[in-house]
Amino acid sequence: MMVKARKYVVRKHFQGLPKRFDYEVVEYELPPLEDGEILVKAEWISVDPYLRAFNRHTPVPYDQFGYQIGLVVESRNPKYPKNCRVVSHKGWCDYVIIEKNVLEAETEAYKLPDLQGLPDVLGIDAIGMVGATAYFGFLHICKPKAGETVVVTGAAGAVGTLVGQIAKIKGCKVIGIAGSDAKVKFLEDELGFDKAINYKTEDINSALKEAAPKGVDCYFDNVGGEISSIVMGQMNDFGRVSVCGSISSYNEDPRQMPQATIIQPSLVFKQIRVEGFLAGRWAKPINHWPAAFEELLNWVKKGDIKTKYHITVGFDKLFDAFVGMLNGENLGKSVVKV
Ligand code: NAP
Repeated sequence: MMVKARKYVVRKHFQGLPKRFDYEVVEYELPPLEDGEILVKAEWISVDPYLRAFNRHTPVPYDQFGYQIGLVVESRNPKYPKNCRVVSHKGWCDYVIIEKNVLEAETEAYKLPDLQGLPDVLGIDAIGMVGATAYFGFLHICKPKAGETVVVTGAAGAVGTLVGQIAKIKGCKVIGIAGSDAKVKFLEDELGFDKAINYKTEDINSALKEAAPKGVDCYFDNVGGEISSIVMGQMNDFGRVSVCGSISSYNEDPRQMPQATIIQPSLVFKQIRVEGFLAGRWAKPINHWPAAFEELLNWVKKGDIKTKYHITVGFDKLFDAFVGMLNGENLGKSVVKV
């Protein structure tokens, strides 16, 4: 079968917010399948902050990577027959060939888990890399105990909504920090956060003191910068900080990063443990993601975890969805239906 495919190629290193002209959409003909390969038609494509963060460290040009869910339309691999669905890291392309070695490794491409009737899109959300990030990054690093106070930033986004809800499942008091009143209302009214703070309009220091009068035990940090210095300044003895990301700096010039209040005095006097992580730590050499997916799926099925999507429709809209997410337009996971 001869197939014309389209893909987004990153031509330039981004300066500030990514620009449309940093990308080129390339149309090309896919070669016939070789033994062990599959041809996949993308159905859902994820746009994520790390696509911005990794741009700095990736030589250009490169094909825009990222997670996607696709349908196998032709197969020369019996483990991935026609009509099954695959999660892969093949990124922003409408048709793609997945190679034998990638399929064999089962980390950058794997069969969409059995979602027991729930929507496929979960495979790039709670039952995918995002879910693994929230699950391992929070439970293994913050090690929350019932009754403790947890703060999460980027609270109304993909990872943040999951972390806050997992913290509630574990019996914690949860405070979310997010960038609009609508997000604050959503977190408090629909996801059951004990308190949410709008960092754009409220004084975070006093709002947090009021929300957490006994101090903060666990901080899941999605944003970095001054917000994080403020939260770490209000932590209890032996508090734990899981550093997941620092989106407040991703569009900044790396030679002129924003300054934030020094946190070392709090770390020393409160004996706080701060640990950064990459979700892939729990995928290699032993893949622990499937076990996490099982537990996350049970929580979703029971309604203990509610999922929320910001859906953009159209392959041509991938760039807009990406920049929209960086600008905070999304409530929940930002995804593109192609
Ligand atoms: P997301 O939260 O769904 O979307 C990004 C959000 O960041 C926006 O909605 C916006 O919400 C917020 N934001 C943008 N600029 C900001 C700023 N200057 N200050 C504070 N918040 C800002 O994205 P996600 O996929 O869940 O990712 C969240 C974080 O996790 C990112 O830092 C990402 O890099 C990190 N991450 C890390 C790993 C890992 O393995 N370590 C894996 C996945 C994701 P507001 O309206 O609230 O500003």
